[in-house]
This record gives sequence, C-alpha cells and structure tokens, in this order.
Amino acid sequence: MTDPIAFIDLAAQRKRLGSAVDEAVLRVINHGGYIMGPEVKTLEADLAAFTGAKHVVSCANGTDALGFVLMAKGVKPGDAVLCPTFTFAATAEVVAWTGATPIFVDVREDTFNMDVASLEAGISTAKSLGLNPVGVIPVDLFGLPADYDAIESVCHREGMWVLCDAAQSFGATYKGRKVGSIGLATSTSFFPAKPLGCYGDGGAVFTNDDELAAVMRSIRVHGQGSDKYDNVRIGMNGRLDTMQAAILIEKLKIFPSEVEARDRIAKRYNDSLRSVAIVPDTPEGYTSVWAQYTLRLKGFNREKFQADLKAVGVPTMVYYPKPLHQQTAYKSYPVAGNGLPVAERLASEVVSLPMHPYLDEATQDRIIEAVCSALAQRTAAA
Ligand SMILES: *Cc1c(COP(=O)(O)O)cnc(C)c1O
Repeated sequence: MTDPIAFIDLAAQRKRLGSAVDEAVLRVINHGGYIMGPEVKTLEADLAAFTGAKHVVSCANGTDALGFVLMAKGVKPGDAVLCPTFTFAATAEVVAWTGATPIFVDVREDTFNMDVASLEAGISTAKSLGLNPVGVIPVDLFGLPADYDAIESVCHREGMWVLCDAAQSFGATYKGRKVGSIGLATSTSFFPAKPLGCYGDGGAVFTNDDELAAVMRSIRVHGQGSDKYDNVRIGMNGRLDTMQAAILIEKLKIFPSEVEARDRIAKRYNDSLRSVAIVPDTPEGYTSVWAQYTLRLKGFNREKFQADLKAVGVPTMVYYPKPLHQQTAYKSYPVAGNGLPVAERLASEVVSLPMHPYLDEATQDRIIEAVCSALAQRTAAA
C-alpha cells in the first residue's frame, strides 16, 4: 500500500517557503523587538492592502479578535447576539464572555451558512425573551462567505451590527467584496490549519470604523490610554507576537497562489464526485478559500465510509459532529424559532476530505478513487 496522505500538508508549504521564513524569524530574534516589533505594523499594512480594509488590528488569536469587537461595542448582560449553531465554539463563546446571550440560528443545507429566515426567527426569539438583539456574527463556514446582502439588510432594519467571523475565509470574496471589508468588522484567525496560518496562534480584526479601531488597539494592551499607566478601560493582553507577524508577512506573499490552487483542487473534486455524493458548489458571485472541502453523505454510514478511506491511507474529518446548541456548555442558551433541524441533519451527514494547496493530481486521484469505491460498495450493499 502507498503512504498515508496528509489531511493538511504544512511540510510541503514549509519546503516552498524555504530560507525566507528562516531569515524572517532570525531577524526578529536578533533585533529583539519581540513584542509589537516593526513586523507587526508591516503585517497590518500588508493585510490592509490585501483586503482593502482601512484598519487592521492584529491580535493573539481568532477568538480574541471576536472578543475585541464585542468588548469595544460594550456588549453586556441583557443583550443578545445571534450566531449560527453549525460552527466552531469560539463564535458563541465570546458572546458568553461578555455576559450577553448567544442565540443560535440554523444554517442552509446548500452553503452550510446562516439561514436568513432562521435569523429573523432568532431576533423574534430574543425580543420575546426580553433581550435586546444588538448584533449578528455570521460565520463563513469552510471558507465560503455567508449571504451578507440578506444579513445586512435585516441588520440595517433592526439597527444591529454585523461582525463577520472569517476565521476560515480570509482570502475569499462575496459579490466583488473582499472578506475583511464587509460588515462593521471582520475577525480572522491565523491558527496553523487555517487557510492563512502562522506557526502558532494569531488573529486580526478588520474594520473601516476609526473609533472602533482605536478602542480595539487600546483593548489589545489592557485598555491603555494615551498615558500607558492610566488605563482608560478594561482590556486584555491580546497582542500578536512579532515572530508570528514576521512569518505571516512571508506566507502572505505566496497566499494568492495557494488560494488559486485550493480552488482548482476543489473544482476537480466537485467534477469527479458529483455523481456519488452531494458536493459543495459555490454560489454565483462567491469565491471560497476551501478551509475544508466537505461532502454530504446522504443515506450512507459515515463511520464505515471513514474506515474504508482510512484503510487505503485517506484521512477524513467531521466538522462538526455536534452543533453548538447541543453541546454541554451551550445547550441552555435559546435557539431560533422551533429548533435547528438543518444543522442537526448536517452534523450527521458531513465529512471533509484532505484539502491543501500542495495536493498533486495523482494524490487527488487516489482520494477520488477511494471515495467512489467506498460509496459504490455501500450502494451495492444497500
Ligand atoms: C478557528 C476558528 C475560530 C477561532 O480562532 P482561534 O485562532 O483558534 O482562536 C473562530 N471561529 C471559527 C469559525 C473558527 O474556525
């Protein structure tokens, strides 16, 4: 049997980056500006140029990035913030940090992203509970932007803000708008496995709002005012390491070609697997950065499918086996309307295949063949 395939191959990228990243790290070690060194400013400028956002506030991770915005907006007990249930826990966790109430909203089965009818129901749920719905955190799941026109129109009507959780979608576009330039603010993560990852934890917030950016810069260093020892608000220690910034500057240079490669691979998967599974088509006017390539296995036993692939060296992952509203820490929070049936169904059907920019065609073919043969066996047995 041939070698097992990597689900995400950071070693291949490391090889391509070569001495550029080694030298960048060494420069930081030698100049000694480990905290908020010059690379942090350079990276923020590079990210602003990439997204078109006026302000970029880098930070320690994608969770703090979400938290900065909620803290800066003064989100508090009695407020409600709506977020999809089919996401990583951080999206709702930050709402709970502030003492506000996360309200879980269902997703669409074609995009895995927030369903606007369920968002409307969730706003009614908030009001009926006597809560004040102040904002929405749509998530661009698996790298595909949410339906921002529809979400922004509801929020505009209701006087609510939109914070885009783009931890998985940095580099994607929505109807000609770059992720990072949509909503009141956008947060992202540079966790190593995200499309643009560093070699540790990292994150950033993007916004065009001058005041919000200034408040977030203060929150990043303990709520510091113009005098460093007169702190003017409660903040946190949320800075991005200079070394991670130096690494990201180098990785951002090759990122556009990586996004192209991811899209090429996803399209090839789609063409080859459309006849055997439900494939993730990209809606007209959207681009995805394919943080995950996720199939739906209608009527097939997912555990058996994963075991069959594993037996031929093809790793798979399930994102996410349990929607947030069913998880222990979150199950007492309200849900939109009468329940979230789509997310519950998706959680039992989805499976993600290996996806990274360095998957060559022979390896793609091995994965495609393994999927087709596992699904053909199930059909024959049915
Ligand atoms: C990864 C992720 C986060 C959190 O990012 P960290 O850098 O790990 O804190 C938030 N939201 C979503 C949707 C994510 O995938």
